[in-house]
Amino acid sequence: MKWESKQCQFPDVPTSVNDKTVVFVYGWFGLWHDDLCSKDDAKVVCEKLNKLLENDKLKVIIAMRSDTYSKYKTELKNYDPLFRNQVDLSNEKLLDDYLKCFTRLKDSCINTQCQCHNLTEEMLRKGKDESIGMPLKVEIILKYHEHFLLQSYCDDSDILTAMTAHFKALKENERPIYEWIMYICLKGHFSRSESFDKDLVNKVQFQIKMSSFNEHYGQLRKYIRVWFGDPQNVSAYDAQYVFWHPFIYISAFHYLYKKDETTVMNYCNVNAILQLVRPSSYTNKGIPSSTSYIEVSAGKANVDSLRKRLRKLGILNKYKDHPLLKDTDKNDQ
Ligand SMILES: [Zn+2]
Repeated sequence: MKWESKQCQFPDVPTSVNDKTVVFVYGWFGLWHDDLCSKDDAKVVCEKLNKLLENDKLKVIIAMRSDTYSKYKTELKNYDPLFRNQVDLSNEKLLDDYLKCFTRLKDSCINTQCQCHNLTEEMLRKGKDESIGMPLKVEIILKYHEHFLLQSYCDDSDILTAMTAHFKALKENERPIYEWIMYICLKGHFSRSESFDKDLVNKVQFQIKMSSFNEHYGQLRKYIRVWFGDPQNVSAYDAQYVFWHPFIYISAFHYLYKKDETTVMNYCNVNAILQLVRPSSYTNKGIPSSTSYIEVSAGKANVDSLRKRLRKLGILNKYKDHPLLKDTDKNDQ
């Protein structure tokens, strides 16, 4: 019998699987970042996975970003068997291959005015965006080889700023594409089997309609990919469209947040807010106001409206220990 694989998105993991199965668990602590309140869920999941591992005829792979992995390897040390063999996917050979792609891209660009000719390997290696891997930066530059992104990267050597410049240009020049990207960012994903949120579209003053998704899909494919929740049970109707990399999601979120913090706090999916927004007073490992590269910080008024929103949704209690809500707890009387 051949080995089979089973993909699971945290926290949905099975309690039993067939022998000779590789169980792959992804999406730990949030698909885009870390919601800081899911550690109890993580313990339940680790418990289940540990139980599965009692059967030596199967294997478990947990996929995590390296910084999250080192953090939770310590915090979840009771589940040590799950963290025993670390496999690091970054390697020098891969970097070399990506750098060759980058050189080929510049060599093949016949527009002598194009800013890509000013872009250097040095810029990609250094800069404010050091927490983003080089392969991802090269992939982004390959996909979105356009003036505003390249110009911004030449000026700032920062891929997040360059992506926000790219979205700003899209807003001005390719409005429907921009609106679809931001709709997917606000909702978290798009699926034909779910109803189109006309109410949201009205509130954020977009013009798109459900029917225009197919019309623009050719261009949207540069930003999104198809994702099947259950690869064993594939139907086009159930397919979800998500950003091809969490960082593209994060970039779209940053753009929207910079443009209009209040809209994001009021209408964006709650998961993304809890993973990416921190209070302005946030201290990370004792260092004040140290939101990480991919986090944004929120002022009091917007935190208050988020509290109201969570209370209305009936999930305020679940997140009461989240740094966003904890700090403002005493104001909730
Ligand atoms: Zn070029």
